[in-house]
Amino acid sequence: MNTTTRRRLLMSGVLIFMLTLIGFYISSGYRTDAKMNEEDEIVTEQIETTESKYPGLHLETVTASTDKYIYAIHSLKTDSPDLTNTIQSWIEDSKKQFISDAEKNAVLGRTATLNMNLKTKPISDTIYNLIFSKHEMTGGANGVSDIKVFTINIEEDRLYLLTDFIEETDENKEELTQIILEQLAEDKELQAKVIEDELVESLASFDDMKWSITEEALILYWNEYEIAAGEAGVIQLALPIEKIQHLISDKKHKLLTLEFPVEPEETDVIERPEQEPLDPDGKYVALTFDDGPHQTVTDSVLNTLKEYDAKATFFMLGIQVDYYPSLVQRIAEEGHEIGNHTNTHPDLSKVDTSRISKELETTNQRIFEIIGRYPTGFRPPYGAYNDNLVTQATNYNLPIIMWSVDSLDWKTKNATSISHEILSMTTNGSIILMHDIHDATAAALPNVLKNLKNQGYSFVTVSQLLDWRGDTGIGPHFGSYKQSE
Ligand code: ZN
Repeated sequence: MNTTTRRRLLMSGVLIFMLTLIGFYISSGYRTDAKMNEEDEIVTEQIETTESKYPGLHLETVTASTDKYIYAIHSLKTDSPDLTNTIQSWIEDSKKQFISDAEKNAVLGRTATLNMNLKTKPISDTIYNLIFSKHEMTGGANGVSDIKVFTINIEEDRLYLLTDFIEETDENKEELTQIILEQLAEDKELQAKVIEDELVESLASFDDMKWSITEEALILYWNEYEIAAGEAGVIQLALPIEKIQHLISDKKHKLLTLEFPVEPEETDVIERPEQEPLDPDGKYVALTFDDGPHQTVTDSVLNTLKEYDAKATFFMLGIQVDYYPSLVQRIAEEGHEIGNHTNTHPDLSKVDTSRISKELETTNQRIFEIIGRYPTGFRPPYGAYNDNLVTQATNYNLPIIMWSVDSLDWKTKNATSISHEILSMTTNGSIILMHDIHDATAAALPNVLKNLKNQGYSFVTVSQLLDWRGDTGIGPHFGSYKQSE
């Protein structure tokens, strides 16, 4: 054997060894993946992603409640990782800042609150204005409000900046300032509060400005305290398109002449199903699901309920209803009850009467538009209520529905814990609190229903349960608690 042949043999030996190593590495990697997929499949089996009313946008509400703080954040995902990252990192930063402020102020013994809302305004089928408004109370008596706007094109995966429409030149800045001042002159009250120097300063960099655009107007936004005294709050000013048209670069113009998406047609009334009278000596519980409808979890929950012939009650957020009307329709068609859980999930014991009424009204209307009738009950976010809320709920004829069994799903997010918590606390006449926004809740449900069914329970809507218990009036209604042994 000569040196060259030996070297070749040695080389191929090394090569085979390396390939074997790589092969082993890959196959073991695959094995882990396969195993993970298997586990995932148990949870995600048969789950469908419901199309949102705003194609390409996915809304998720995240809430938390600790002894130091509570928050409700409406967080948005798109199919583009870059756009999602841009939006999510702003949301995450705001959340982190809030939690750190809340922890610093915890010594004052006050619970800090954060409510982050989203208004979605489609400009076309692919271009959206996403207007996030954030209201924070940490420590001080008055909260702080901020606004953040993203204008995105989901087809081109891009975020628009104001400079995409208006070139940032000194002339344009001056011209825009004049137009803003003219517009302000039409609102004397606001005009008096705006500090002109601060206004000019806010136009220093076009790309830092907050704006949205419609067929009729360019809308500019300023945070509380940004260009005016605090009592002015967040400022929103609409500049008619005719007035700014000459500033908009020619090639950008076509963006403003896009067709607006058509509103979905009106739906017929989805009647409440005939309900058989309940047996006075029967065993009944009311399953309730809050904070949805959610594009994947609600679908899974509905499939399980159908399998066990169970009826439930869904306390919905108006903002989620707006995104997922088809789920609202399906919930009603499958004979479940629909309740109101506010539009944006604020702590209603900390807001004024007009806000309470707006939160109840918006969700009532959104549900009415889809199913042709109003919700039959109301669940206060965080279970927080006071006399003022009871009065408002009475005005809207919405009985306040609390709960007697808390699945703690939002806290544990673990199917075994959720199932254990429910099964150990449930008794005849209980109202069980869950959230159809966590995968773990959907995963726990089959076991919960199987066990309760074996114990002789039937699953009815809240209205049925209250009727059967003889509970009438606005409430609050809690359902039965298990007597401690
Ligand atoms: Zn809730």
